[in-house]
Amino acid sequence: MATVAVIGGGLAGLAAGCALADRGYRVTILESRPRLGGRASSFEDRESGELIDNCQHVAMGCCTNYLHFCRVLGIDGFLERQRELHFVDRSGTISRFRPSRWLPSPLHLAGPLVSLKYLTFQDKKSISEAMRRLVALSRTTREHVVSEKFLQEFDITEEDLDAKRATWNDRLTFQEFLESCGQSEHVIRTFWHVVLVSALSESLDNISFKQGAQVFIDGFLRNRHGWEVHIPTVPLEEFYGESLERWFSDRGGIIQTNAGVESLALSERGKIRSIQLRDGREIEADHVIVSVPWHRVLDLLPSELQLKYQPLSEIPAAPISSVHLWLDREITDLPHAVFVDHLSQWMFNRTRLDQHLKNKKSFYYQIVISASGNLKTMTQQEIIERVLGDLRSVFPAVAEAELLNSRVVTEHKAVFSPRPGIESARPSQSTPIENLHLAGDWTETGWPATMEGAVRSGYLAAESVLKQEGVDETVLQPDLVTGKLVRWMYQLETT
Ligand SMILES: Cc1cc2nc3c(=O)[nH]c(=O)nc-3n(C[C@H](O)[C@H](O)[C@H](O)COP(=O)(O)OP(=O)(O)OC[C@H]3O[C@@H](n4cnc5c(N)ncnc54)[C@H](O)[C@@H]3O)c2cc1C
Repeated sequence: MATVAVIGGGLAGLAAGCALADRGYRVTILESRPRLGGRASSFEDRESGELIDNCQHVAMGCCTNYLHFCRVLGIDGFLERQRELHFVDRSGTISRFRPSRWLPSPLHLAGPLVSLKYLTFQDKKSISEAMRRLVALSRTTREHVVSEKFLQEFDITEEDLDAKRATWNDRLTFQEFLESCGQSEHVIRTFWHVVLVSALSESLDNISFKQGAQVFIDGFLRNRHGWEVHIPTVPLEEFYGESLERWFSDRGGIIQTNAGVESLALSERGKIRSIQLRDGREIEADHVIVSVPWHRVLDLLPSELQLKYQPLSEIPAAPISSVHLWLDREITDLPHAVFVDHLSQWMFNRTRLDQHLKNKKSFYYQIVISASGNLKTMTQQEIIERVLGDLRSVFPAVAEAELLNSRVVTEHKAVFSPRPGIESARPSQSTPIENLHLAGDWTETGWPATMEGAVRSGYLAAESVLKQEGVDETVLQPDLVTGKLVRWMYQLETT
């Protein structure tokens, strides 16, 4: 069987490596850091010496490839599925968002939408109406099917249509879409912003309509399990640690950490001949998959490919911050909370979620703030004070609690920004060099920068290798099935 070298041990590289090792290929993963997981990993806190996650990572039920990857590797037992979400508003009221487990999609959402206490009846009506328009517009941009009724609704003539399509696909921001639907400032701030900013890590005026619409269609409308949130019950170090490595080595795979790659050398026949490591070693493989972050790719590629992949250097990044707090008492028995209209966006009660932490003397909470560019002007202390204030406004026990330890972690290049126009800069997993393949959440997957996007890219890179080896096999997993009722109501097809 052919040999494959995967550069980068993040989720994309792991997914590609595992898919190929499972099919008998001899795979070596080269990771520059001391541990696997890439942007979804733990690091050692210098002060306490403890391993903490760079940030809480969660997956939704619609992440079919990521969940498949976890199942195949036997690490899905480390995920806890949330059956309800807890939204807390500025008054401190908790609304339980509990979609029906029996009603078909989209009726499963009716009850939970009604239960959001901070929205009026009128607000909810306008959200439902915008959701309907969102699907209609999205169908048009994706499938190019347009009815007479659609043209009338959006006041478009047949002649305008092609120009409009190009604009929607490439230029329309989610904010512009919401404004075109007459969504009020309150509804935008307390509903659309809450869902999208934490899903895509950008402000609504920097999110393309296409990416935003996908979150609502795949995450909420398509299937009644799409919205479910899966949260790891162990630190990421353990999640992508020992048992994954064992699974991989049982299939003949080799993982080399602290193995940073310097460059790739081309043979005279125009194929990748060898991989130069920073420590001076040289490795050969029949295929090479480059799965480093998008802003590192050009450093590795041979000069012949620099021009083609130059657009990658123009993809902007978006930051995510996490605030880690250790308190002397439990402030809530909720496993998580979604903050509406606060600086804090999500609170994860790690002591409740993580078995290992149950008997510790301190209580560990992680607060996530996506699209956190606005924190730049604040000191760590100010951020911690603001977050404690958010928690205090909802959980009265915080007022009495002692803060034992705290830490703010900001990943400045957490994800690529899902702006309009970005799709054309995302390359395919196959390259003009036949034994060179790309993987990474930034490659062409149709998904935003998520663990699902990373695993999809890895599976597609594996397909690219298989194709070169003369094997026509689909590794990519299907999306959740589109419910019958939602298909009929919205003419939404399975992708
Ligand atoms: C703070 C934060 C919170 C997030 N929250 C979520 C979430 O809740 N849900 C979700 O789905 N997604 C979330 N994401 C996004 C998710 O983590 C990423 O989309 C995904 O992990 C990307 O995987 P990847 O393999 O494409 O890239 P990476 O994880 O970046 O992996 C690339 C790997 O390549 C290695 N590397 C780089 N250069 C070299 C070299 N020269 N030689 C060898 N190795 C090299 C890096 O060390 C790294 O391990 C979050 C990201 C961040 C940063």
